Amino acid sequence: MTQLSTPPPAPFTSTSQSGAADYPGLDEWRSLPVSQQPSWSDAEAFERSVAELSILPPLVFAGEVDLLRHRLADAAQGRAFLLQGGDCAETFEAATADRISGRIRTILQMAVVLTYGAAMPVIKMGRMAGQFAKPRSSDVETREGVTLPAYRGDIVNGYEFTPESRAHDPRRMLQAYHTSAATLNLIRAFTQGGFADLRLVHAWNQGFTRNPAHARYESLAREIDRAVKFMDSCGADFEALKRVEFFASHEALLLDYERALTRIDSRTGLPYDTSGHFLWIGERTRELDHAHVDFLSRVRNPIGVKLGPNVTGDDALRLIDKLDPEREPGRLTFITRMGAKNIREKLPPVVEKVTASGAQVLWVTDPMHGNTVTSRNGYKTRRFDDVVDEVRGFFEVHHALGTVPGGLHMEMTGDDVAECLGGSDPIDEAAFEDRYESVCDPRLNHMQSLEMAFLVSEALTR
Ligand code: PEP
Ligand code: MN
Repeated sequence: MTQLSTPPPAPFTSTSQSGAADYPGLDEWRSLPVSQQPSWSDAEAFERSVAELSILPPLVFAGEVDLLRHRLADAAQGRAFLLQGGDCAETFEAATADRISGRIRTILQMAVVLTYGAAMPVIKMGRMAGQFAKPRSSDVETREGVTLPAYRGDIVNGYEFTPESRAHDPRRMLQAYHTSAATLNLIRAFTQGGFADLRLVHAWNQGFTRNPAHARYESLAREIDRAVKFMDSCGADFEALKRVEFFASHEALLLDYERALTRIDSRTGLPYDTSGHFLWIGERTRELDHAHVDFLSRVRNPIGVKLGPNVTGDDALRLIDKLDPEREPGRLTFITRMGAKNIREKLPPVVEKVTASGAQVLWVTDPMHGNTVTSRNGYKTRRFDDVVDEVRGFFEVHHALGTVPGGLHMEMTGDDVAECLGGSDPIDEAAFEDRYESVCDPRLNHMQSLEMAFLVSEALTR
């Protein structure tokens, strides 16, 4: 198995506990156009929430963020692969031990499939512990003649369709912080406390035995078991297998929240957004001279940008100049979400332009957001075949251009939900009535996710 090339820096360096009140430029975004922000109902409660967030401890640490940047640099060069997955929108209610462990277990299983198949280290990252803010195409939602503010994620308002729940409540930012802290605490316990030990590779496989991916995983787990036993007899030291690195990421949409959690690292004197290790800018908020790009250009975290089918090569170059002026390995990730129908045509010119400029970014595929359709019974869904087709297109394009297909970004869950159509134990529209749980976009369920991992592992080994 390939070893990661960079030695890990100390994971917990001291990050100043105080807010970054007067760091030059950090508040520049306030004077720029900004979209997708809430209209808070209570100015005083807003001030109190932001003041409290500014003095709460960081959720992640500067040393961990730097370590991730090194890992992503490996992925950009084809020496590792990024697996990033989780809910479209996390909710406070679903932040339970069972749900969180299910999602971690599914990501660990997918990572094992990819690592074993592709003989490459896999960087494991959740859309977790902070994925609470959603951009919306409309400010309002109308149901049966009643119009209310659209749901913007639990950090802003509630999903329940009542005026009280849909009001934008700034106290929710504090609840998002505490829910993220509890989620991270579980993630750290699961990934550092022995649950992620490779010797438990069988135990991660959950139910759903009728699915072909289940049997395929079992057989892979048996092979790994044999290899582990062999190494054991050879006297190998398995301490390192007990722990895995796991990073937290979310869309940095709600700028008041992101700004309040930004701290100056006492080692380097530089600002880190301590709400998550990796932050991305969504397709709807990536305008060059607007607030989101400006704010994220000023923090040290590795940054992602979603690129939809209308992006041009020049847009990509301008984003690189703004977000990664030093061309720092691992700093910038482009997450393409073009749609299965578009990717083979739209991605090549963008990649070519970036490559010709000499810049190196990490290219990741999000095969979900360009493939959303509405089912006949009115659910937002995606066809598993379209998702697979976009992934295949992504690999084809990069293989043809000699560039690196470096990661997979997915909306998925560890639960047996019915939200995306198809898969080898096919989900049909009728199943949505009972098992559709997402409050936002449809996710691959546990088995569809595992199936996806097998497909990607084949694409990586070709
Ligand atoms: C998302 O990741 O949930 C999302 C809204 O994506 P995009 O910005 O690509 O539309
Ligand atoms: Mn989504």
